[in-house]
Amino acid sequence: MTYPPSVQKLIDAFSKLPGVGPRTAARYVFYLMNHDAAAADGLADAVSALKRRVKTCRLCFNVFESEKEICDVCASARRNNKLLCIVANETDLAAIEAVQTYDGLYFVLGGTMTGIKKENHKNLRFKELEQRVKNNHALKEVILGFNPTVDGQTTIMYLQRQLKPHNVKISRLGLGLPVGAELEYADEETLASAISGRK
Ligand SMILES: [Zn+2]
Repeated sequence: MTYPPSVQKLIDAFSKLPGVGPRTAARYVFYLMNHDAAAADGLADAVSALKRRVKTCRLCFNVFESEKEICDVCASARRNNKLLCIVANETDLAAIEAVQTYDGLYFVLGGTMTGIKKENHKNLRFKELEQRVKNNHALKEVILGFNPTVDGQTTIMYLQRQLKPHNVKISRLGLGLPVGAELEYADEETLASAISGRK
């Protein structure tokens, strides 16, 4: 079966999203076309605003939207700059921030390691992290805020080695997060106790 090129193009675009197969993608496209013109306009605007307005913070690599050079968390004098929590991605950062127990700074690594070969991980910000740790002279503790999954563990072990020479305390989230769990889906209480029970 063939769809008109513009329909197919949007199906292909949706299919690239995590967890969306071609059938779901096609359902989204026809829903937008047939039932909800306003949602289609909203989606188009939101997607184009992403590129135009959203910036990546040069310190933590989280996304933000303002005229400033760095994000509100990095710019805030109320955040504890002795603490740096390293997370895989923006959604993990948002999950930890939502709990409101953590008042330190962040660093978004850009993903987790799959296997130990370094050439598979060119997209991860190991170099930038190294710089960040080196340049923050107030830093006392780095928290490895990764999912208790195989990839999360691999990343934790790698970072423990990489950060060892920097003379900072390296901790990881405490128990309470079930093995295989994902931070962004953990309930706030669990996440809060994982942060405060770090070791
Ligand atoms: Zn920032």
